[in-house]
Formats: sequence, structure tokens, C-alpha cells
Amino acid sequence: MLLEPEAKLICVEYGVPVTEFKVAANEKEAEEYADEIGYPVVLKVVSPEIIHKSDAGGVIVNLRNRSDVSDAYRKILENVKKYDANARIVGVLVQEMAPQSTETIVGAIKDPQFGQTIMFGLGGVFVELLKDVSFRIAPITADDAREMITQLKAYPLLKGFRNSPPADIDALVGVLLSTSRLVMDNPEIKELDLNPVLAYQKGAKTVDARIILE
Ligand code: ADP
Ligand code: MG
Repeated sequence: MLLEPEAKLICVEYGVPVTEFKVAANEKEAEEYADEIGYPVVLKVVSPEIIHKSDAGGVIVNLRNRSDVSDAYRKILENVKKYDANARIVGVLVQEMAPQSTETIVGAIKDPQFGQTIMFGLGGVFVELLKDVSFRIAPITADDAREMITQLKAYPLLKGFRNSPPADIDALVGVLLSTSRLVMDNPEIKELDLNPVLAYQKGAKTVDARIILE
């Protein structure tokens, strides 16, 4: 499994927008990086043993100043040690806090029969409970990507519904196309998971990325 900062570097290479980030090796570095990135920031554990970071108490959001950052740094180390005493902690990721918006999920999975396959869905209950997702075999075209989005039952939410404003569909199409290129160029990727990708009225931003190699 690639660590979140490693997976995000690859995303950046392929033009997938991600939250600005730096990996801190100690508390002081975390404070410095937070100052550089600008508040609010999010801190996350970076550990090869921790796959679901929030389950381990390894994600703390909305840190508004240096003292929030140093408190969160210590809290994350404490939480993660309690969760898994053997987890190796490579560092703590300091990242830009992305404003709340509609959460989408972009995934790829290498199917033994069909090869690299791209997935799209809306975050939370839509994927987990309603299984409202779409799949296409890679490589995909822009038309394929657009269809993957519009065929979802939850598409009206992205188009703009009640108090949720319309999402930038072109930006999401861009993320799907970049993901397709990324996995086609790197056949050793077994699984890719961008969860969530926040959809904005203008643009989209990947907040978490995971890549599993064969
Ligand atoms: P994991 O999926 O490993 O538990 P995530 O990185 O996805 O960890 O973080 C958990 C949740 O915290 C995300 O689904 C998102 O809601 C929120 N979050 C994480 N990073 C950010 C960020 N940079 N900006 C805003 N929200 C974030
Ligand atoms: Mg996640």
C-alpha cells in the first residue's frame, strides 16, 4: 500500500487536484508547515499499518492555530499507539483543510478479466448503503466519464438540488479521465481509492488517496 502522501504525489503527476500537504517528522515541523500552508489545517497519521486513519483516531480537522496543531499532533500519536501498539509512524501529514461540499468517490480496481476498471459514486450512504455506483473499463473517454456521472441515481444532487449548489461536472470528468490514464500507465496498481473527492461549484479536490499495488 502506498501511503497517502505517496499516492497524492502520483495524483498530482496526473493532474488530479489534491489538498496541499507536507509530512512533518516532529511537532515543531508540523507547526511550521501549518503556518506555511495557512489555517485551518488537518493533521493525519502516516503509517503503513493504519489503513483507515480515522478509525485509529488518526485524523483531526479544523486546526486554527499553532497550539491546536501541537495538541493535535500529540493526540494523534497517542490515539494511534492505543489503537495499534505496533504501528510504525512515518510522520504526520499537515494539509490544507478543504471547505465542506458534496463528497464523491473515484476508484479503480484491476479486474482479473477486464483489467483496470474505473468507478464513480457519491460519498457516504450512497455508496455504502445504496450501492449507487457506476463502472467503466479503462481507458475511458470524456463521454464515458460524463455518462458515469449522469447515470447515478444521485445525479440530481450533483446537478443542484434544494440547498446543494450545482457541482462542476467538467472537473469531475477531468478527475475520472486522469485516473484512467494513471491506472493504464501503471498496471502494477491493483486498487486506487480517492475518497473523498469534494465536488465544488468550481473545481474538485481530492482529500484522501490510497493506492494498493500488486
Ligand atoms: P480515512 O479515510 O483513512 O479515515 P481521510 O483522509 O479520508 O481518512 O479523513 C477522514 C475524513 O476527514 C474525510 O472523509 C473528510 O471528511 C475529512 N477530511 C480529511 N482530510 C480533510 C481535508 N484536508 N479537508 C477537509 N476534510 C478532510
Ligand atoms: Mg478516506
